Amino acid sequence: MAEQKQKYEESKVPMSIKQSELNIGTLGHIDHGKTSLTRAITGVWTDKHSESLKRNMTIKLGYADAVIRKCEHCEGASAFTTTNKCIGCEGEAKPVMRISILDAPGHETLMATAIAGSSVIDAILFVIAANEPCPMQQTREHLMIINILGIKNIIVVQTKVDIVGRDKAVQHYNQIREFLKGSAIENAPIVPVMSNLGVNIDVLLEMITKMEKPKRDTEADPIMYVVRSFDVNKPGADVTKMNGGVIGGAIVSGKFRLGEEIEIRPGMKSSNAKGNTYKPILTKILSISTDSTNLDEAVPGGLIAFGTALDPSITKADSLVGSLVGRKGKLPESKNEITLKYTDLKRTDMPKRAFSLGEPLILGIGTATRIGHIKKVRKNDIDVELNHPVCATAETKVAVMRNDTKRWRLTGYGFIE
Ligand code: ZN
Repeated sequence: MAEQKQKYEESKVPMSIKQSELNIGTLGHIDHGKTSLTRAITGVWTDKHSESLKRNMTIKLGYADAVIRKCEHCEGASAFTTTNKCIGCEGEAKPVMRISILDAPGHETLMATAIAGSSVIDAILFVIAANEPCPMQQTREHLMIINILGIKNIIVVQTKVDIVGRDKAVQHYNQIREFLKGSAIENAPIVPVMSNLGVNIDVLLEMITKMEKPKRDTEADPIMYVVRSFDVNKPGADVTKMNGGVIGGAIVSGKFRLGEEIEIRPGMKSSNAKGNTYKPILTKILSISTDSTNLDEAVPGGLIAFGTALDPSITKADSLVGSLVGRKGKLPESKNEITLKYTDLKRTDMPKRAFSLGEPLILGIGTATRIGHIKKVRKNDIDVELNHPVCATAETKVAVMRNDTKRWRLTGYGFIE
């Protein structure tokens, strides 16, 4: 997270908006301009997935933060920017709110991440490019996912309008309206933008500031999904000066405080002749930080990093991704087998077939990805034995992928019973 360069000066951002107020996911057909849009808003590429692409189905969120600012001298949408100075009058722009934009690589993983990470995502930018007819197949599938997730906090962003010109853009805009009819987001605003030229990004920013803020339950037991974990020490660093392991993730409920004792489940893997076992990890929060600043406590919003007292070899190379962090003794037991209440997506691009015993599945459970095998099928309930244990609360939404002609495809979703 540290490598991200911000366009604004952090020192001028007041304490009240140190943490992101809105986690915004992006959806949209491939090449429709999600990454360019993210860059236009935040100044940061989220396209940092090369490693996770190699590992195929690993759920890994691309991530960028921005502080939306407003010029005090200008009126209307043109007062909104994510830079220090007003684009119009070059006067000082004052911070209004911080947002985080989350992105996932690839079409199937994007959909799986949207489902499995839905407790982390508060709002969606639904990107539809004007230079192709609407809807394209993936656009249609993403609308289906939006309907399933029931996220109403959505702005449709019509990208690439500079490529097609005004008349075509208006026609395409009407196509989008038609396409959204009867869906959960029938009346969502549609904002035409030119990401590369920065045109209308101010309008989009103003709309984002008016989106409904999620209600954060900060009194509940705190839970964080681990999205990253790493060793921040340089190779060969002096052992006496080493930093403890770092865990990065998204808090979904409650409040974590500096100095607090935490537990991580399923935790640390150890392999022996009998297979893999996992041991819960206990440690202490030694530091709390966002991309850019240190905090004394953290609530849901954006990605948060905890510095811990752990041996960094425990956290290195994303080894704890998919675990949950909670207060000591407050997390559910890890499970090797789960029962899912399954709903099929009825995809038109795949043949319909029943589940078979022993069939392999890939499951997205929060930020954990697990391979499982079907043990039992009863109507819509399936029992799945997992290759590695998972720690998840009841009612967690799970993305289910099946193997279709040697490719893993998202076929449905379920809830853990
Ligand atoms: Zn101004």
